Amino acid sequence: MAPQNDNITTVAVIAGGIAGLATALNLRDRARAEGRDLHVTVFEKGSAPGGNLQTIRQDGWQLEWGPNGFLDNEPATLRLVDRLGLREKLQCSSDATAHRFLLVNGRIQEIPTSPKAFLKSRMMSTAAKLRMAAELFIPARKDLGRAAEDPGTDETIDQFGTRRLGKTFADIMLDPMVKGVFGGDSKRLSLAASFPRMVELEKDYGGLFKAMTKMARKKKKEGKSGTDAGPSGVLHSFTGGMGSLIDAVVADLAADPLAEVKTNTDVQRISREDGRWMVATADGESSTFDIVIEAAPAHAAARHLGHLDPVFADHLAAIPFAPMAVIALGFSRDAVTHDLNGFGMLVPTQEKRDLLGVLWTSSIFGGRAPDGQVLLRCMAGGYGNPGFMDQTDQEMTSVLMSELRPLLGLKGSPEMVRVIKHTRAIAQYVPGHLARLREIDQVTAKFPGLYLTGSSYRGISVNNCVKESETLAENVMRDLAVESGHTRTEAL
Ligand SMILES: Cc1cc2nc3c(=O)[nH]c(=O)nc-3n(C[C@H](O)[C@H](O)[C@H](O)COP(=O)(O)OP(=O)(O)OC[C@H]3O[C@@H](n4cnc5c(N)ncnc54)[C@H](O)[C@@H]3O)c2cc1C
Repeated sequence: MAPQNDNITTVAVIAGGIAGLATALNLRDRARAEGRDLHVTVFEKGSAPGGNLQTIRQDGWQLEWGPNGFLDNEPATLRLVDRLGLREKLQCSSDATAHRFLLVNGRIQEIPTSPKAFLKSRMMSTAAKLRMAAELFIPARKDLGRAAEDPGTDETIDQFGTRRLGKTFADIMLDPMVKGVFGGDSKRLSLAASFPRMVELEKDYGGLFKAMTKMARKKKKEGKSGTDAGPSGVLHSFTGGMGSLIDAVVADLAADPLAEVKTNTDVQRISREDGRWMVATADGESSTFDIVIEAAPAHAAARHLGHLDPVFADHLAAIPFAPMAVIALGFSRDAVTHDLNGFGMLVPTQEKRDLLGVLWTSSIFGGRAPDGQVLLRCMAGGYGNPGFMDQTDQEMTSVLMSELRPLLGLKGSPEMVRVIKHTRAIAQYVPGHLARLREIDQVTAKFPGLYLTGSSYRGISVNNCVKESETLAENVMRDLAVESGHTRTEAL
C-alpha cells in the first residue's frame, strides 16, 4: 500500500512494461538524490512484470516473447544497464549480423553495404539504381517538420521513399524494413512520427545523400568514421535474454522500501478526487496518489482516462496496433541446408508471402539453441495482414514451414515450435499521429500530476521507452519542485 502521509509524495505508475518500470526506477533514483520522500507503486495487469520483454526457456532453447534486443546507440539504455550492474551480462550480436538479406524475385539476396556491392547487386534494375542516384538532385520539401501543426503535410514512409529514391527502392527496401521494425505497412505509417530523423536530414541537409556526404566529411575532420545518418548501433541483448533487464529493475524496486510492484492488478479507472488521483482496480480496490503516470498501451489508457476528456477517449483509442505472430522454430543443424550466416531475411510485400521476416536467432546470439541445433524466429501477420492471426497455431506453422522450406532447404519437421500471438503487438504511428499527440499533450497539461508515457506515443523501441523514462522522471521532479516552491510562497 502507498503510505498515506502528508510529507510523502505518492506516485502510481500504471503498467509494468519497460516504460513503466524504467520510469519508476528513474523516479526513485532522482527522489533519493534530491532527498525527497517519494513512494512509487507500479500496477501491472499481468501475472509477471515486463510486458513484451519476457524471455522463455524451454528444453535448452531460449526464446524472446517480444524484442530480440536493442541497439547500443542510445546512452539512456546503457546507463540503465550500468545502473543495474548488468554490463557483464550484456551480449553483443555476432559479426554475422553484418549480412542481412531480402527476398527479391523469390531469391534470398544480400543487402549490399558498399557502393561497389550495390552497383553489382542484382536486387534492382539499372534504371532503379539511377533513380536512386537522382536523389541528389531532388529538392527538399518546403513544409518539412510541420506534421504536428499541419497534419496535411504528414507524408507516409512510402511517399517519402518514392519521392526521394524511387518506387523500386520504396518497394524493395523500405516496405520490408517497416515490416521488420513496426510489423507495419510503409503506405500507412507517418514518416515524421516513425522516423523523425529522416525528416530532419532532408530539412537540414536538403537530401539523404547530401546529408550522408556532409556528415561523413565532418566526421572525417573529427577523425571518426561513419555518418550518423542511419540507425547505427550494434544489436545487444543479455546472456539470459531481454527478460534480464526486467528482472534486474524489479529486483531493485523490490529492495527499495519506497517502491512496490503489484502484479495481477488490472487498472480500470483513474479519476480525480479532491485534488488527488484515485486508481481503481478490477478487484474492487482503490487508492489515492499525488501523481499518476499512465504507461499502459494507448488503448488501455483510453479506458482508464476516457471519462476525463473526449480527447483521451477518442485519440488514445484511435492509435492502432499491429497484430503479430512470432513463431520460433528449432531445427537440428543438419536439417537446414542454408548456412544461416547472417542476421536474417525480410520479405517485401510484392513477394506475396505470409512471412514478414525471419531472424536466424542462433546466428545472432550464442546460447539460444541447444548444441547442434539452430533457432529461427519468424514474424507474420502485421498491420498489412491481420487475417493471418485468425488461424490456429498448427495452421500458422504449416504456412510458414511451406514458405521457408524451399528457401532455407529445410528437411523434415522442426524439433521445437513455439507460437506467440500478439493481438496488439506494436503501436502504428499513422499519418496525423503527431497532431494527435499534440492534442493529447494539451489535454494532459490541464490535469496536474498526470503524465503519459510508453511505446504508443513517441517511439516504439526499448531504447525510446528507456530514454523517455529519464526525461519523464526529470519532468516530474521539476514539476514537484515548482509546486513546492508555490506552496512555500503561499505559506509566507
Ligand atoms: C514481437 C515484438 C518484437 C519486438 N522487437 C523489438 C526489438 O527487437 N527491439 C526493440 O527495441 N523493440 C522491439 N519491440 C518493441 C518493444 O517490445 C516495445 O518497445 C516495448 O516492449 C514497449 O514497452 P511498453 O512498456 O511501452 O509496453 P508493453 O511492453 O506493451 O507493456 C505494457 C504493459 O501494460 C500492461 N497493462 C495493460 N493494461 C493494463 C491495465 N489495465 N492495468 C495495468 N497494467 C496494464 C500490460 O500487461 C503490459 O505489461 C518488439 C515488440 C514486439 C511485440
